Amino acid sequence: MPAQGQHRKPRSLSRLTRACVVAGVGAAAVAVPLVGVAQSASAAEPAKAPAAATAKAQDYTVVRGDTLAKIAAAHHVKGGWKALYDANRKVVGADPGIIHPGQHLTLNTAPKAVKAPAPAKKAAPAAVRKADTGWTRPVGDAGIGTGYKSSGSLWSSGHHTGVDFLVWSGTPVHSVAAGTVVQAGADGAYGNDVIIKHADGKYTLYGHLTRPVVSVGQTVTEGQEIGISGATGNVTGPHLHFEVRTTPSYGSDIDPVAYLASHGVTV
Ligand SMILES: [Zn+2]
Repeated sequence: MPAQGQHRKPRSLSRLTRACVVAGVGAAAVAVPLVGVAQSASAAEPAKAPAAATAKAQDYTVVRGDTLAKIAAAHHVKGGWKALYDANRKVVGADPGIIHPGQHLTLNTAPKAVKAPAPAKKAAPAAVRKADTGWTRPVGDAGIGTGYKSSGSLWSSGHHTGVDFLVWSGTPVHSVAAGTVVQAGADGAYGNDVIIKHADGKYTLYGHLTRPVVSVGQTVTEGQEIGISGATGNVTGPHLHFEVRTTPSYGSDIDPVAYLASHGVTV
């Protein structure tokens, strides 16, 4: 992690608030993921094959407040939460710390029981609001140095229009969701940046890059590498400036942490 040279004075590096926060925030929490083969959407499972009587007790639907550890403990899952995660990886996604109400998990951690279908890909436009595999962090587990709306003279708007992730130059930067590249290259105080428009009409911006690795007009998928972090533009050291906007224009920024949280991503 860069020890210094953020936009502003570095804050505590320990603010890695990933933990086991179940992101039951906003509408994302009630979205029923489009996974689970031909299962019925409701908690009751009449659609289950009668023959699968033994399997019945091994299915579980996530409710608000659940964590993998909690479920594993409550149901005496063999192998604990890690085995539970392994058996449900395709449903849970890349982060075992984030599960969502409505997700169907198997409690059978034996290998044969993995019946999760392929990762829930964009089955419908509404999939953008689902909260499992459609969204991710821009730079892995990197912590945030300078938060949103911090005040200071460095920013022309008078406040910080995004959040700064603490990464050295050379770190791969990923799109937080699928979208279309609308800007890639030199962009004033942002240095080299990439701006991506998402299906919900919002824009995410990744600033101070060493260089983009995508170009305008290109479509990207969630997690796709879009650039290499750096220290270009108005900075005193390397970091990733991550910003979310409601329009393509400067000044339309919204809280990026809350935005990611609304899509089930905790930073
Ligand atoms: Zn910044």
